[in-house]
Amino acid sequence: MDNGQLPATHRSQQVFEDSPVFEMACRQLDAVGEVIDLDQGVLERLMKPKRSLVVSVPIRMDSGETRNFWGYRVQHSLTSGPAKGGLRYHPSVDLGEVAALAMWMSWKCGIMNLPFGGGKGGITVDCAQISLGEKERLTRRFTEEVLCIIGPRQDVMAPDLGTDEQTMAWIMDTYSMSVDYACPEIVTGKPVELGGCVGRREATGRGVVYCVMKALQEIKANASDATAVVQGFGNVGSVVCQELSTRGIKIVAVGDRYGAIANPRGIDLAALNKHMQARNLLKDFPGAEQIPSEELLTTPCTILVPAALERVITSANAGKLRCRVLAEAANGPTTPDADVILKGSDIFIIPDVLCNAGGVTVSYFEWVQDIQQYLWTEQQVNQKLEELMLRAFNQVRGFAQQRNLAMRTAALSIGVQKTAKEKMRRGLYP
Ligand code: GLU
Repeated sequence: MDNGQLPATHRSQQVFEDSPVFEMACRQLDAVGEVIDLDQGVLERLMKPKRSLVVSVPIRMDSGETRNFWGYRVQHSLTSGPAKGGLRYHPSVDLGEVAALAMWMSWKCGIMNLPFGGGKGGITVDCAQISLGEKERLTRRFTEEVLCIIGPRQDVMAPDLGTDEQTMAWIMDTYSMSVDYACPEIVTGKPVELGGCVGRREATGRGVVYCVMKALQEIKANASDATAVVQGFGNVGSVVCQELSTRGIKIVAVGDRYGAIANPRGIDLAALNKHMQARNLLKDFPGAEQIPSEELLTTPCTILVPAALERVITSANAGKLRCRVLAEAANGPTTPDADVILKGSDIFIIPDVLCNAGGVTVSYFEWVQDIQQYLWTEQQVNQKLEELMLRAFNQVRGFAQQRNLAMRTAALSIGVQKTAKEKMRRGLYP
């Protein structure tokens, strides 16, 4: 501490204005402000998250020592209903990233016309470095720390990177213990036995593929001749691969944080899934060649699907993309500088806030079912999801054509406008 700085273990990134991800979200909002007529005061309000909570989360490690982790929950908007959005466990989580992701959730819910505002949370932790027991204690203690701002009518969490159905089950249990009744509607993406919705786990990937099939029609490409490259093989990426290949599309390359593989004849997904289930690394799959990770996104293909982290398509690689459709399954994969480069290409972009909105849409179905205590069938869920995704796709495409806008600007405009209109209608209190 001689140089006046706290040691790294005590420091956290708690100023969202300094974050490149938050800056990116603000730049996108600024661009929307230039094309649609927005009240300046409302635009300024939309630039700032409504409420941000930073908590230190102490837990007892298996070794007996105590460790503190930083936890965050940001509610970007509470105008349209409860804040809604995932909880991310990843080493790169900081307040700025969570605030940007919360803002994007607002636009996503707006585009899909869901009665939610945007929310997001996270803990700065590498899940590969903690045990299951430590993860459970971390989740339960985090839930305790944010109890003052969450609730089925205030803020409803869901899985994101590093969290899953089990994480949601722990949150549901911790919250239910505190209110003294079983409250499934406090989270979505729960196990089905606890009130989770059938088809929720696959929903983001399925929604991506519904959009991709529409985009192929738009560019008049045949699915049977199409190839795909997918970055990320987690909950979203693996489902995208499966759903694309079911529709006759060849997966020619995939990658995850440990490496990437390619096979121009198409990767055998059943064999890859088996390989992964046996706890092997994706890059060691014998049915494909290893390629450098940085070559994955520039591999020639019809459909490129970034399904991992934000800001992977930048000004450095945007000009080298060799795809016809860019389906943004991840949140924020393309930087505004890359967008400028892509504008000059003929790549059809399905922007993140539309492309990956299937997850929160089925989360909405789950919340509605839990509140009504009335369960839908998987067929009802998938049918309704497809209907809402296609409606949103057509609306965004129509607005883009009518106003000669990029798909991203059109999508964001629709999402922003919905929240802005509601703010105007409700007025400013007092
Ligand atoms: N984490 C997901 C997302 O980024 C899902 C959010 C939700 O279901 O609430 O869209």
